[in-house]
Amino acid sequence: PLQAGIVGLPNVGKSTLFNAVSNSAKAQASNYRFCTIDPNVGLVDVPDERLDKLAELVKPNKVVPTQIEIVDIAGLVRGASRGEGLGNKFLGNIREVDAIIHVIRCFEDENILRDEGEINPVGDKEIIDTELQLKDLESVEKKIQKIEKQARVGGDAKAKAEFEVLKRCQEWLLQGKNVRELGLAKEELPAIADLFLLSIKPVLYVANVDEGSMHTGNKYSEILQKVADAEGAQMIILNNSIEAQITEMEDPDDKAMFFEEYGMKEAGLNRLIRAAYKLLTLRTYFTAGVQEVRAWTIQEGWKAPQAAGVIHTDFEKGFIKAEVIGYNDYVKYGSEAACREAGRLRIEGKEYVVADGDVMHFRFNV
Ligand code: GDP
Repeated sequence: PLQAGIVGLPNVGKSTLFNAVSNSAKAQASNYRFCTIDPNVGLVDVPDERLDKLAELVKPNKVVPTQIEIVDIAGLVRGASRGEGLGNKFLGNIREVDAIIHVIRCFEDENILRDEGEINPVGDKEIIDTELQLKDLESVEKKIQKIEKQARVGGDAKAKAEFEVLKRCQEWLLQGKNVRELGLAKEELPAIADLFLLSIKPVLYVANVDEGSMHTGNKYSEILQKVADAEGAQMIILNNSIEAQITEMEDPDDKAMFFEEYGMKEAGLNRLIRAAYKLLTLRTYFTAGVQEVRAWTIQEGWKAPQAAGVIHTDFEKGFIKAEVIGYNDYVKYGSEAACREAGRLRIEGKEYVVADGDVMHFRFNV
């Protein structure tokens, strides 16, 4: 599964959040799985109301959600890019994730230490950004040095084009900006693909606010929201301590009371997991049989055979066709048979681009 890494300065609430994610998964109904792969890596189910709805209609023996991996990347500090506080190790961990969940402290609490003085969400965000950018600059400049000659002399067209892209990245990074905002074209990406840049990874900001502001946000999260908007990035407001408390409750009635008391419809973590899933530009299709109703993860734009390959490589190799019912139709008519009768079951071929929410049934040769 794809991975999202939790980053942020010390004492902003990263571990609290990671623990909440792991506990919540453990405490959920039996079909909600979480397993700790190692102390800092957890595999977590992605909550999806559509899956619940399909399960209600089909009443299968088993319901299987799709999952993502959440990694707690502790220990980033100012100077990490120079190796400060094991910085290189943590930056290396970021290199391996597909997306970044950046937790930023938007709560005041004098008992909880801050190295950086007054609460300053934008400043904190910039400290982390800067470390990632410096590391990226190092990678970009190394490669520039390597291909500079090739690009200048002789005039190897490919090297020249790559050199251009690298130079633009360099200038951008020197301005203190993240490569993700540079808007590189698809054709330009191969020039930097081998560098596994950090600041190009999609990011979700989590404003960790105090209890009183969890529905409204506060002055800190407001400033941060403006910055996120300017970057075209998503931000969600959470109170990590509350989330951690919720996950410690085992009795569903206690939980319901707690939700009511705090005016919550669901755990904020569900929002977090869904947002992280979206950040990874993932799409979901479903299979719905009496044995099992299951959600499967694909990327945007995948065609039917590739999507079938997620279930089994044989499905992809031997793909003949797919029977497809749109999610809304499935719910409207209530069953596969009813959809078939109403003419809402389509037969699609190899070129069909799977839509988010499709309920699929594959036909294949073995
Ligand atoms: P990390 O260093 O970023 O992993 O931070 P931790 O999750 O260990 O949190 C540091 C301290 O802040 C702990 O004592 C937490 O209980 C506390 N903390 C975390 N989130 C909140 C919050 O939303 N409000 C308050 N007041 N304290 C919090």
